[in-house]
Amino acid sequence: CGIVGYIGKKDAKDILLHGLEKLEYRGYDSAGIYVQNKAQEGHLFKEKGRIAALREKVDASVEATAGIGHTRWATHGAPSVRNAHPHQSFSERFTIVHNGVIENYQEVKDAYLGDIELKSDTDTEIIVQLIAWFVEEEGLSPIDAFKKAIVALEGSYAIALMDTENPDVIYAAKNKSPLLLGKGDSFNVICSDAMAMIKETDQFVELMDKEVATVTRESLVIENFSGDIIDREAYTAEIDS
Ligand code: GLU
Repeated sequence: CGIVGYIGKKDAKDILLHGLEKLEYRGYDSAGIYVQNKAQEGHLFKEKGRIAALREKVDASVEATAGIGHTRWATHGAPSVRNAHPHQSFSERFTIVHNGVIENYQEVKDAYLGDIELKSDTDTEIIVQLIAWFVEEEGLSPIDAFKKAIVALEGSYAIALMDTENPDVIYAAKNKSPLLLGKGDSFNVICSDAMAMIKETDQFVELMDKEVATVTRESLVIENFSGDIIDREAYTAEIDS
């Protein structure tokens, strides 16, 4: 139901949890965050129910300055820790959060992964397994694998993706579900609603359908599926923080 992402110099887990709290008003049944540090070590925390419960589960000693978070409103698979986002590839190299519904997830699974047993009951997991498949089996770069996966998918989505082997990047894409990129000084953010990140920045760039964003601490690059760079000005969001 809601997505947040942060890559910068501050503690990511606090910013993500605060952002998820700002999205609570939209409703949700579970929530999770994934943070990653420069040592390429990822930490995943998920909980059913309130963000307050997730907060208690998050290991306060984990230090990381990049991560993604999600509040889930279940459409496929019961509300549970197992089905809460973020979802990871079998290798745990790739991690995603997703808002929306993948209508052809069963067909995509049958076509690429066959009868392999997935780790959750969601429509979302196929996205991350497909990206991992394209990288690990077909040798594509993460961004090409991400593009190839979303071309194969039908439905609505806002997605943020992280890769343990490229810890200084968050990738994002959307179709029919909103996703904003927020600009900061030595940090950048992602969110489905500006409210979630207004405490960090009021400068936002809208991501459009059929575009992929590469978000680092220093840059926000938007490109289309053919690799053309899209230049889009930021606007100032007028919301009280
Ligand atoms: N369809 C996904 C799921 O059920 C995402 C739902 C959402 O947008 O929160 O896990």
